[in-house]
Amino acid sequence: MLKDFFAKKKKYAQVPSEQAKQDVPEGLMKKCDSCNKIFYTKEMTKHLNVCPNCGYHHPLDAWSRIESLFDEGSFEEMDANLTSANPLGFPDYEEKLEKDREKTGLNDGVVTGKGTINGHRTGFAVMDSRFRMGSMGSVVGEKITRAIEAARNESIPFIIFTASGGARMQEGVLSLMQMSKTSVAIERFSSEGGLMISVMTHPTTGGVSASFASLGDYNFAEPGALIGFAGRRIIEQTTREKLPDDFQTAEFLLKHGQLDQVVHRHEMKELLSTILGIHMEGGVSHETDPGV
Ligand SMILES: [Zn+2]
Repeated sequence: MLKDFFAKKKKYAQVPSEQAKQDVPEGLMKKCDSCNKIFYTKEMTKHLNVCPNCGYHHPLDAWSRIESLFDEGSFEEMDANLTSANPLGFPDYEEKLEKDREKTGLNDGVVTGKGTINGHRTGFAVMDSRFRMGSMGSVVGEKITRAIEAARNESIPFIIFTASGGARMQEGVLSLMQMSKTSVAIERFSSEGGLMISVMTHPTTGGVSASFASLGDYNFAEPGALIGFAGRRIIEQTTREKLPDDFQTAEFLLKHGQLDQVVHRHEMKELLSTILGIHMEGGVSHETDPGV
């Protein structure tokens, strides 16, 4: 009927609702979590998940991070097949691990190995917040410890990128033990002259912030990263004080002397390469200095 025809037309002429405008087709487009501007996923990926408009640093998966820093084909992964058991019989833990394995293609929340950055060889560990929120259980602790020991054996520097919600609840005290295990490995590495660089990315909290993340000779962070031990609410309730808005951000920690520098993701390779170069040259010039 003619009436229906007009009714239909009216329906087609509808202006998309605000909600519909906000919805982004999965995969093709990506909305910035900070400024809400929409970009092609390809463009965001090209910028290493840094928003081209406002510079917000979105999480970056472990392998994209490795590709962005290492010389092509130089990265050799270590201990890729280590997997967690369920030592405490925690309900549904195995299923959750399996789901995260499928989602990420990783066996646990950290990728470790060795490779070269602009020709400088270094040991490396990078956490992936997509796997159980990057939480640290016995596999994460063990892989990081082995990576540090491998760097020590080879007398090369060690760089770690952290992204973690803290110790992994499902492994209880075994997760907490990883704090001391990794710290002892770093102490041994460091006492033999090993250079360690820590880069904290969003978020680095709990037992990870309280152990290896803070133990670098250089401690860096990405802009806007949340870094802290206990959460803001707990601290406010305990101290009965209102905390500043930027509390526990990378910029706040830099201002208060807990970080050496806040580094943009696009400048990271250059900075790491420069530091590795300085320390390497230091070693060489010491050996070849004609004055010695
Ligand atoms: Zn943005």
